Amino acid sequence: MSRVAPRTASQRAAFPHVPQRKCCVCGTKAAALELVRVAFPKGAEPCVDTDRKNAGRGAYLCRSAPCIERAFERKSLERALKFKGNLPNELKNQLREIAGQTRTVPQTKTNSGAASRE
Ligand SMILES: [Zn+2]
Repeated sequence: MSRVAPRTASQRAAFPHVPQRKCCVCGTKAAALELVRVAFPKGAEPCVDTDRKNAGRGAYLCRSAPCIERAFERKSLERALKFKGNLPNELKNQLREIAGQTRTVPQTKTNSGAASRE
């Protein structure tokens, strides 16, 4: 019951504006916005592409600590980005921070004036 059936072409056609990307560690497919994009701009070091403005090669990762740690261990990012060398610590820290974040779920606010007091 853990596997999601692959989408058929007709199902995909129903959601034409949701580009799917694959996590370079576990291979899970998700909407591009659900994943973290790491960009490798030419002539620069790999960085987290928060604005998705960075051109160049990109790799996607789940926003989950296990996936991100595994990416470091297996050098999945280096491979996906064709980056030779060690990932900058700044990038690693950024990714770990992202992994620690709970996904921002849009919540419908139901409190009508009566805010809970601490
Ligand atoms: Zn993953």
